Amino acid sequence: MPSFIDESLIHALLKEPKFASPKTAENIIQKALMLKGLSLEETAILLNCQDKRVLAKLFRAARKVKEAIYGRRLVIFAPLYISNFCVNNCLYCGFRRGNLALARKRLTLDEIRGEVRVLEEQGHKRILLETGEEPKAGIGFLERAIRAIYSTKYGRGEIRRLNVNAPAMSVANFRRLKKCGLGTYQLFQETYHRETYEKVHPSGPKSDFIYHLFAMHRAQKAGIDDVGIGVLFGLYDYKFEVLALLSHALELEQRFGVGPHTISVPRIEPASNAPIAGNPPYPIPDTDFKKLVAILRLAVPYTGLILSTRESAKMRDEVIGLGISQISAGSKTVPGGYKASENRNRKRKKVSGQFSISDNRSLAEVIRDISKRGYSPSFCTACYRLGRVGADFMDMAKPGLIKNFCLPNSLLTYKEYLLDYGDKAAKKLGEKVIKRHLKDITNRKIKEKTIDKLAELETGNRDLYF
Ligand code: SF4
Ligand code: SF4
Repeated sequence: MPSFIDESLIHALLKEPKFASPKTAENIIQKALMLKGLSLEETAILLNCQDKRVLAKLFRAARKVKEAIYGRRLVIFAPLYISNFCVNNCLYCGFRRGNLALARKRLTLDEIRGEVRVLEEQGHKRILLETGEEPKAGIGFLERAIRAIYSTKYGRGEIRRLNVNAPAMSVANFRRLKKCGLGTYQLFQETYHRETYEKVHPSGPKSDFIYHLFAMHRAQKAGIDDVGIGVLFGLYDYKFEVLALLSHALELEQRFGVGPHTISVPRIEPASNAPIAGNPPYPIPDTDFKKLVAILRLAVPYTGLILSTRESAKMRDEVIGLGISQISAGSKTVPGGYKASENRNRKRKKVSGQFSISDNRSLAEVIRDISKRGYSPSFCTACYRLGRVGADFMDMAKPGLIKNFCLPNSLLTYKEYLLDYGDKAAKKLGEKVIKRHLKDITNRKIKEKTIDKLAELETGNRDLYF
């Protein structure tokens, strides 16, 4: 099957000298404020722009676009690693088969339930399941894990949305996962540059560039409404990768009428015994990283942008203002890591997981910090519960209508979090933040209903949403 990534076109767009004009870039930024997204050509112009004044405009526009679509809410989730066995040998990953020093672990169903219990006790409602590629364990292991996670309910806790980051698979296996209640299926291409891809994936099933590239096509054929794509920035030129990500989004939209539900923007981080993780071929300076996040926000305004704890707390605080809409918090990248870290002092920069974590703040600390920065933390899962997925979701997200639900739902889930898991200081801050954001709900009826529902939460009812 031929690739839909046109490498020659991307290289040509990035070389075109006329694209360096700041005036042209400014016009494109202006156009992006209409929330219609950007073409490959327009995106290439912004990527090539170095003018500081224009970049400042780009950053302001990215914030505006994010807030026009989703409002000032930030969805929070936790990754859950269930196995670090892997038959692949990705040169940037601590789980790769060639890392003989790594202690391998596949969680039992009881251990998975134990991890979920820890996350529920912290207040999490959304999990991203992560696992290596292990044909021996088979799809049955994933099915059992998904069911175990959804069925673990501890105290007031429950997992309401389980997204899965698992290896590329067949349509038949995607169908099986969908039946178990899989939410978004995530898979990163890591790099869209084929030659680099083949170099950094020297063996194992993942070394098949085309099979990996078409995973989202198979997922959509299997009826999975929401798919999440991504790049591991640092493996190849970031400008190429951004244009390739956009090509992927356009391809999905043309073929299935629905673009990617999310785009993830991990930057390569050190990992144990991963030859290129500590010394990436194309390291991305912070300024370029911020720029690429802002450009993606303008290019695919309707798509959730996800930032992980690979980035430092400082960088995350900066980048959430540039269009990020989902973040992980309190993450552990080792199977069994949540249980193991209970009652243990946190250590900085552990490298024994899939990669090293730079933001080691707990969920409570992240919630406190983003609240202080003027955002409303959200555990909302309303769209999936109400069937607002796939094309139905995009119909609301594209014109910026989804924020009429996002903000009220974030306040309701924040309140729920405060009631069930917040300490005195968290409650004091949270109540202030909820009161302040209530003023931003412009629809009078929804505002009144939100106030009613907030009061209903006080009476003990839970899981209220629009
Ligand atoms: Fe395995 Fe994924 Fe790590 Fe590659 S990135 S070695 S597929 S766990
Ligand atoms: Fe996400 Fe929908 Fe909730 Fe908004 S309303 S936070 S898009 S689930």
